[in-house]
Amino acid sequence: MPGAETSTTAPAALAASVLDRADRLAACTEEPGRLTRRFATPALAQAGDLVLGWMREAGMRARRDAIGNVTGRWEPPGGAPAGTLLLGSHLDTVRDAGRYDGMLGVLVALACVQRLHEERRDLPFAVEVLGFADEEGVRYGTAYLGSGAVAGALDPATLERRDADGVRMADAIASAGGDPDDLAGARRPTGDLLGYVEVHIEQGPVLEAEDLPVGVVTGIAGQTRAEVSFAGVAGHAGTVPMTLRRDALAAAAEWIGAVEAHGRAVDGLVATVGQVAVEPGTSNVIPGRATLSLDVRHLDDGVREEAVDALRERADAIAGSRGCALEWTDVQATGAMACAPGLAGALEAAIAGAGLRVARLPSGAGHDAAVMSRLCDVAMLFVRCAGGVSHHPAEAVSAADVAVAIDVTGRLLDRLASGR
Ligand SMILES: [Zn+2]
Repeated sequence: MPGAETSTTAPAALAASVLDRADRLAACTEEPGRLTRRFATPALAQAGDLVLGWMREAGMRARRDAIGNVTGRWEPPGGAPAGTLLLGSHLDTVRDAGRYDGMLGVLVALACVQRLHEERRDLPFAVEVLGFADEEGVRYGTAYLGSGAVAGALDPATLERRDADGVRMADAIASAGGDPDDLAGARRPTGDLLGYVEVHIEQGPVLEAEDLPVGVVTGIAGQTRAEVSFAGVAGHAGTVPMTLRRDALAAAAEWIGAVEAHGRAVDGLVATVGQVAVEPGTSNVIPGRATLSLDVRHLDDGVREEAVDALRERADAIAGSRGCALEWTDVQATGAMACAPGLAGALEAAIAGAGLRVARLPSGAGHDAAVMSRLCDVAMLFVRCAGGVSHHPAEAVSAADVAVAIDVTGRLLDRLASGR
């Protein structure tokens, strides 16, 4: 490695480029003045175009797949790669998002390939970088559309879902340049896969508390999402007596309290109602319908499933006691995932090789890695983020920590190359 300190491929120089690129991606947004980049929108296509360009600059063959993921493939100059290592994360965001959740993993992966390319390194395997089109699930209420398509785990019925504006998912994919009729074409054959490694901001405060730039993820909590509707009877807020009401929102409110209490009562469980839609939603009309989102997570699938059953029974009981009807729709259930011991172990060795103490931590947030584990071994590297803040414009990482992430990922490639 000639001139490591001044070279454009030194981790510090690459980290500066990663932060600059994160700023450029943040300018690709649906809403002026804040970052919102949902699935199958022009803003996402614009971000994907930038990434495709950077992939080609790094010597990769790059393309967009049928659902809108961007993928790039680097092959060693000596040719004849024995296997492919996947690196990546997602390019979509929540509303009013930060600029690193998802994008950091794609950009660190790109930086590592850029270094391979510029140093004309010869590895015994190829490297593919994936920028997934949907992880957050903001537009259609169902997450992992991008990695789901790559893993062949996408239910075709999902294509009929509609967003808040009534746009069918299949139509949205087509208008974003994808091909909803060929989602099978986005599926990644598994024969040559060595694994999937995802770099991601921690989204929590543990690494900051431990004073460490990076840590290895042990596993990802399983998650259940459901749509829960209480149907009552709308009526005049002035003329219908309290005793004769079937107020859907009052029922929903009682249940929301029960959800929170249950989450607090079970160790390691988190349970959240994050969305409420009230119909007709007028100040002088008794609510006739309240539709809520439910999100339940735990590292133990049994504990999570028990909690969801209990919350459903409770919703039934509350609806029954108030003369309302309950409609429960399971939106998504993702099992807990353990990272592959071999790949995670190589990541730990890479961290130790960089002279750092190895921290192991679980992930309460879902990640594309959970879906990718259906295809191959997966491992994740968390990067410290300021205050543990994510899903917020204040999301921040330091250039020094990003340089560590690039260095550690590079060391991982070296370890895998030497078969250690
Ligand atoms: Zn993310």
